[in-house]
Amino acid sequence: MPSPIRAVRLGLIILLIVVGTVLSAGWAMHQAKRESMQLDAQRANQQLGLYANALHTLIERYRALPAVLALDPELIDALSRPLSEPVQHALNLKLERINGAANSSTLELLDASGLAIAASNWRLPTTYVGSNYGFRPYFKQTRVQGSGRFYAVGVTSGVPGYFLSSAVSNAQGQFLGAMVVKLEFPELEREWRQGSDILLVSDARGITFIANQDGWRYRELLPLTPADRAELEQTRQYDKQPLVALHSQVLTRFAEHSHLSRVQGPQGSVDYLWESLPLPAEGWTLHLLRKPQVAEDERNAALAAAAVWLSLVFAALFVSQRMRLARMRQRSREELKRQVEERTRELRTAQEGLVQSAKLAALGQMSAALAHEINQPLTTQRMQLETLRLLLDHGRHEQARQALEPLEQMLTRMAALTGHLKTFARNSPGGLRERLDLATVVDQALHLLEPRIRDEEVEVALYLARPAWVRGDAIRLEQVLINLLRNALDAMADKRYKRLEIRIEADAELWRLSVLDSGGGIAEADLGKVFDPFFTTKPVGEGLGLGLAISYGIVADAGGALQVENLPGGARFSLTLPRDLEPAC
Ligand code: ADP
Repeated sequence: MPSPIRAVRLGLIILLIVVGTVLSAGWAMHQAKRESMQLDAQRANQQLGLYANALHTLIERYRALPAVLALDPELIDALSRPLSEPVQHALNLKLERINGAANSSTLELLDASGLAIAASNWRLPTTYVGSNYGFRPYFKQTRVQGSGRFYAVGVTSGVPGYFLSSAVSNAQGQFLGAMVVKLEFPELEREWRQGSDILLVSDARGITFIANQDGWRYRELLPLTPADRAELEQTRQYDKQPLVALHSQVLTRFAEHSHLSRVQGPQGSVDYLWESLPLPAEGWTLHLLRKPQVAEDERNAALAAAAVWLSLVFAALFVSQRMRLARMRQRSREELKRQVEERTRELRTAQEGLVQSAKLAALGQMSAALAHEINQPLTTQRMQLETLRLLLDHGRHEQARQALEPLEQMLTRMAALTGHLKTFARNSPGGLRERLDLATVVDQALHLLEPRIRDEEVEVALYLARPAWVRGDAIRLEQVLINLLRNALDAMADKRYKRLEIRIEADAELWRLSVLDSGGGIAEADLGKVFDPFFTTKPVGEGLGLGLAISYGIVADAGGALQVENLPGGARFSLTLPRDLEPAC
């Protein structure tokens, strides 16, 4: 693969790993976070239920108090006639006593106009006595419905509280005034302050009036309309308390009253799990705000997801690498096969060419030998014929007859040579298995090489058992022998002592034909290679390295064997062939 493509591939893989890891970890973290928050939200919601119960119980405890007091004949009586100072004093004392016993914040009695004629806090400078509360919604409700309830900041005391009131009526059912109990929640707020959660109670308009932490009271959770503001102005519900909007934004909603919100505070924004619970009896809503925790689980989930992702990617890479390797291996195997086939083809062509050259070389050598062999006797014969004519011209018949003798001898030799040539020219297919005498084969071969043997003054020693009958192809065996002899002559070419020893001996069922020379033998390392095709130590142009390989094949074809060994002084080639025991025909 070209390297730019590889680089791009590598880049893509790294990108895949990094982006995938980040995405999967992020996704898993988000999922785990959402799950853990949902669980948290459920828990918070359960706690919210408990808080709501506590608040409800507290209010319920005091709800009956004004109703019971409104039945007191003393109060009814006091409201039925013009008020005298001693009566008012007695009422003040009474309310003070009851308030202490009931453990409520304040008790007050309003007349039909809303004027407070008696109150439990009559001793304090901030007493309600003498103030008119006719503008308060609870008074109006009481006058109309018989009872009222209202959370407000006390206009006189400045202390916020829940006002519960009941109408005081005479026997005829005429509205005389209202009995009011005020509840304050500092204790509740203190109690709620214990946890780290923020607890709020908001009214129907979304204004918080109970909070367990500072800074959360009198906040507008919902935007107020101008009508709301006008009404607040009129009822003086929160009197002089400034109302501050609370800016929040819902991030994730889990349920209708359960979400994750971002609240803008003075110190920047903070995320809260925000649980709300409506309290229908009072028209209020209870809120619980809790900071979500970065759980260990989220980190673990992120790590696990990243690990899963990485294992998947690496497994995929591993598999693709394996497949790529397999493909490459397959391709290289095919390439190798193709190369081997090509080389084999080339070698075969080359070998065929070489065999052809070897044949041509042999032909050339043989032609040269023959030309040499025939030319010389022809010249001699011409001279002898001239001599013969002269002798006959002079009538010296006896001498002429004598001169014919060497001529005859020479002709016989030439006839033998051509006869040999004839056998050599004969077509000789590989499978020929004629009965032949090995000794004759040796004779023929020596005959062909005689000129060279003579020229090079080689001493030839023959120990030939004859006849040595074997089966095979005479021409081919002769070719083998010529090869062996020629190699021997080549080996001895530059030696001073040149001796060729040829033997034919019986060896059990075999005939052993051996050729021993004095050429110094074969290097130990080459001993195993001499029969290999193309193995030659001869200079280029002289040796093809095919002779022994071909010879080996021929002998093996004939059912025999060709071996070589080093003896002191030279190499010995041994050819063994099974003896042909059949009687000669
Ligand atoms: P070539 O004669 O063309 O080299 P051969 O197959 O006939 O091919 O011989 C192979 C080699 O064997 C020769 O080159 C030579 O090194 C070695 N060899 C063969 N015969 C002899 C021998 N009689 N003495 C020493 N070396 C020999």
